[in-house]
Amino acid sequence: MAQRKYPGVTRPRSARRLPLPVGAQLRQLQRHLLSWFDRRKRALPWRATRDPYRIWISEVMLQQTRVATVLPFYERFVARFPTVRALARAQQEAVLEAWAGLGYYSRARNLQRAAQEIVRKHRGRFPRTLEDALALPGVGRYTAAAVLSIAYNVPLAVLDGNVARVLARLGAMRGDVRQPALWRRLQSAAENLLPRTSRGAAGTPGAWNQAMMELGATVCTPRAPACGECPVASFCRARALGLQHQIPGKRPKRAPVDVQLAAAVLLDPLRRTLLVQPKDGAGDALFSRMWQFPAVEVGSGAEGALRRHLRRSLGVEAAECVALPAARHTVTFRRVTLLPFLVPVDKLPQARRPRAGPADSTHIALADVERWPTSSATRKIARAAMRGVQAAFRFPH
Ligand code: SF4
Repeated sequence: MAQRKYPGVTRPRSARRLPLPVGAQLRQLQRHLLSWFDRRKRALPWRATRDPYRIWISEVMLQQTRVATVLPFYERFVARFPTVRALARAQQEAVLEAWAGLGYYSRARNLQRAAQEIVRKHRGRFPRTLEDALALPGVGRYTAAAVLSIAYNVPLAVLDGNVARVLARLGAMRGDVRQPALWRRLQSAAENLLPRTSRGAAGTPGAWNQAMMELGATVCTPRAPACGECPVASFCRARALGLQHQIPGKRPKRAPVDVQLAAAVLLDPLRRTLLVQPKDGAGDALFSRMWQFPAVEVGSGAEGALRRHLRRSLGVEAAECVALPAARHTVTFRRVTLLPFLVPVDKLPQARRPRAGPADSTHIALADVERWPTSSATRKIARAAMRGVQAAFRFPH
């Protein structure tokens, strides 16, 4: 079958230098995996559509998040924003609210910015070329390859953690798969394995990519590869060498960093508080750059540092700071100790709306904070503050 040309897609190099099957053996491996996928694939809602918008949403949600967690979020999200145009014109608050609980909120912000670009530059349709897809906010090589191959059958191989593990084991390639040199080899390997000719829907690049991901997610799992059930076991070098549990090599752990953050729950007599949305705030990783209580990174003397921060950034003189129970969070390699303080004020500082753009501070009833698009850390502080209110102050009920 003649090869169709796709802008931005080049043929892989150096197939012979990779420790993976070629020629007839490769075609056999492809047949085994594709027919297994055809029979055993999980029925997932994004597999029942070729709509690039829905495939894109699912791929973004699935980054660093398990399928079981994603399923209810996906259903709600596409029901609320059924098209690129609906997502593009939605209020950012509504998008973040629909995302709340999935974490990594920059993904939701980028999704919406990308949707707006798709409407502006591509007439509301996810672009078909790698170059245009990569130009969208938040769309990297993996997401672009996944959407283009599954929705449009563009011959691009995906490489994520699951696929990298399968490839490393198939070729008995040792080392940490996230090391750039090995990752490049694996990218090359992924492209070499991709079926170049179509055998109907079952043999398309999209089906192949999904089959590789499915194998990594359900059979060739990190700690307990089920080699006895693996459709490509007879091609696997790691299994032949008894190395399936040693490959891929462990990633060296980054040393943990301890961080302390003091946060202020300002409270006026009507039990309203102030939330801010700083551009580059303290604890971005913890608060996901969503609405948060004013916070500052502190060493020893947290209360004094917080008072200075409130004076400098908001013009608030805190007459009283009541310490609430500390909370601990771990965000990747950061171990965060959160030190919340309840700060009663007669009047909250003015909510700010910069001339251009959305507000970066707002007043809200303390009891309503849990319903806002905030990170779990902010909701935890709000709950502690609610409990502390009755104990610490004699505000009317
Ligand atoms: Fe993974 Fe085992 Fe299959 Fe090799 S044989 S690809 S290690 S599940």
